[in-house]
Amino acid sequence: MRRNASELAKMRRAGLVVAEMHERTREAARPGVTTRELDAVAREVLERRGATSNFLGYHGFPAVICTSPNDMIVHGIPGSYRLEEGDILSVDCGAVVEGYHGDAAFTMAVGEVTAGARQLIEVTERSLWAGIDQLVKGNRLHEVGRAVQAVAEAAGYSVVREYVGHAIGTAMHEQPQVPNYWPGSPGPTLKTGMVFAVEPMVNMGGPETRLLDDGWSVVTADGSLSAHFEHTIAVTDDGPEVLTVP
Ligand code: MG
Ligand code: MG
Repeated sequence: MRRNASELAKMRRAGLVVAEMHERTREAARPGVTTRELDAVAREVLERRGATSNFLGYHGFPAVICTSPNDMIVHGIPGSYRLEEGDILSVDCGAVVEGYHGDAAFTMAVGEVTAGARQLIEVTERSLWAGIDQLVKGNRLHEVGRAVQAVAEAAGYSVVREYVGHAIGTAMHEQPQVPNYWPGSPGPTLKTGMVFAVEPMVNMGGPETRLLDDGWSVVTADGSLSAHFEHTIAVTDDGPEVLTVP
């Protein structure tokens, strides 16, 4: 699906709401704070900016953000978990403005973390930007995954296979998917107006995942740390335009 200029303007506005959710939750995430409190911070941003949540009620999801600490990869439900010094925390946020969606995630250190944890966060963010650099018209979509995978694996990490990025627009999850690895074929040719959420999930250990009994929380099968970064990006005539940055 290709979006026209007025659609992209709405997606930009949704992206700016997501960027503010990031800023506020990052400021609030300190040792002793619960993940439920971070959800409340994000809700305040949505309400104040007149946006709605694409996470709340999605297949019954009960919150406006996902909070995934330490070995949790994605889809953690905000609740009574109290952040501790030394945790890493992944926060995934989404917003809808006039029917158009934004979706972005980051992983942060809570207080002082180990050098290994800090490196995982840095490499995962770098892998996202390597993927974004591939979103150029005429290029093939799966070059994104190839670039992400190269950065993650060069550092000795692995990329998750079971969960992937996606096209985004009037729904949060549209086709095609955007794998974070080379899937064996180049995929569709990129055209101006296409919009994707690129979202590497990088594990310090193996790529295998496990779903917890709550039906949402995805953790690493080997208990290793995991990080997650995501932006919503439009393919434009002038190259990739990241919609979820201020
Ligand atoms: Mg997301
Ligand atoms: Mg996403």
